[in-house]
Amino acid sequence: MTKTLDLAGLGIGPFNLSIAALLQEAPELKTAFFDQKPRFSWHPGMMLPGVRLQTSYLKDLVTGVAPWSPYSFLNYLVQHGRFYPFMNTGMASVSRAEFADYMGWVASRLDNLYFNRVVERVQFDGDHFLIRFAGEAEPVTARNLCLGTGKTPHIPEACQAAAGDHCFHNMELALRQPDVSGQRVTVVGGGQSGAEVVLSLLQGDWGRPRAITWFSRRSNFEPLDETPFTNEYFTPQYVDTFHGLPEDRRLTLVAQQKLASDGISPVTLEALHQRLYEHHVADGGSPAVSLQPDRTVESMSADRPFRLETVNGLDGTRESSKADRVILCTGFESRLPAYLDDDLRQRLDTDSDGQLRLGPDFEARWDGPIDRRIYAVNAGRHSHGIAEPQMSLMCWRSARIINHLSDQVLFPVTASVNMVDWTAVQKESDRPTETHQTDSHQAARHESEMGATSNTI
Ligand SMILES: Cc1cc2nc3c(=O)[nH]c(=O)nc-3n(C[C@H](O)[C@H](O)[C@H](O)COP(=O)(O)OP(=O)(O)OC[C@H]3O[C@@H](n4cnc5c(N)ncnc54)[C@H](O)[C@@H]3O)c2cc1C
Repeated sequence: MTKTLDLAGLGIGPFNLSIAALLQEAPELKTAFFDQKPRFSWHPGMMLPGVRLQTSYLKDLVTGVAPWSPYSFLNYLVQHGRFYPFMNTGMASVSRAEFADYMGWVASRLDNLYFNRVVERVQFDGDHFLIRFAGEAEPVTARNLCLGTGKTPHIPEACQAAAGDHCFHNMELALRQPDVSGQRVTVVGGGQSGAEVVLSLLQGDWGRPRAITWFSRRSNFEPLDETPFTNEYFTPQYVDTFHGLPEDRRLTLVAQQKLASDGISPVTLEALHQRLYEHHVADGGSPAVSLQPDRTVESMSADRPFRLETVNGLDGTRESSKADRVILCTGFESRLPAYLDDDLRQRLDTDSDGQLRLGPDFEARWDGPIDRRIYAVNAGRHSHGIAEPQMSLMCWRSARIINHLSDQVLFPVTASVNMVDWTAVQKESDRPTETHQTDSHQAARHESEMGATSNTI
């Protein structure tokens, strides 16, 4: 790769894959995406039996902005001869395994992806970004970057000394395939992953444990809110409105809207509750199962059997329990990637939490040349809201980035139908001379003048 790229994408998870797929429509741009893995895979460590997508299959890599693209989930079904049987299943959600296979199929058809490339260091030489890979002497040069290397599994401080073969993050679970027969297994974390792990344990997916204990800091095992007006948070209009709010207001809203993005799918809760009921009826209470919401793990011994000290938020009591194995379903941290060179890192504008401050088109604010952009995906929860880590607006974000990069409206990114007027200034007709709106609103206006079609998310 001798020529300078217009865009280097670092990481090939779903989010950068979506950008790579849509970039097939802009062949004049020289782009390449790099990943450390040997081939595309999607969270293989959490590919548990029966797990399903939490979003519609129509919110795939491309459809929301380019329904004509050959890289849609529907085209994947057609090419695999499964369109009619799939429709006849009547399934509201697809399995994560099928969606991962779809994304792998797309990845296998793109010519701008490079696997087995570990990004070790990224520098800026004043004109170009230099991307250095493990084991390669020559860097790749690029005018623009898109950071898409995902998030880091979070291990709570109390559990760090115990972390190892018997206490690990759920992202390693399916890769480790632990034998839990006869063991006391504790699951920490009351979100979707925690629920899926408990369900798998109850099904005996890794043997029959002696006991299952499930701790959640939340006051109950709380559902993902999938109702229509909550889903309006996952629309371009809301995200643009959110982006225009003051930073402190945005952070408050992200905390308030937790269950819109971070609860347990109602279908998983139902399956879990039914499985528990059947367990009590049929299995006579073995393994012993204890669901303990409102518990914070305060400390944990480093050696087995692990001794966990918890505080019960309901009545303030301190409790103690033992476990042979602990599975930490404790979420992820968003950090600046370690491969960013110190000089480059210092030139980036970050908020009080160390998160990148992103412009409306997902471009990081930095003090470099205006025509050298660092885009970031899955990094904008504070700037763009709770939709950011989800796939709901994945292809819309990709379209925003590509339109911005190419300085053209290659994809429609505005909606003409507003179900909710989030602010008075949102209505186009009401704000012909609005001054504080972002570049994206100007682009949006430009687009509607050009007769761009509406987004149908
Ligand atoms: C188990 C699970 C299920 C989820 N299910 C849903 C769902 O149903 N619906 C939904 O909307 N969202 C879901 N999400 C949230 C979100 O959609 C996913 O986490 C999604 O994978 C995020 O994509 P990404 O591209 O940002 O990152 P990732 O998928 O994490 O990909 C990052 C990539 O970067 C690569 N990488 C990292 N460091 C380097 C390096 N130094 N050099 C080269 N490559 C590197 C990694 O190998 C990886 O391939 C789920 C998340 C999880 C964890």
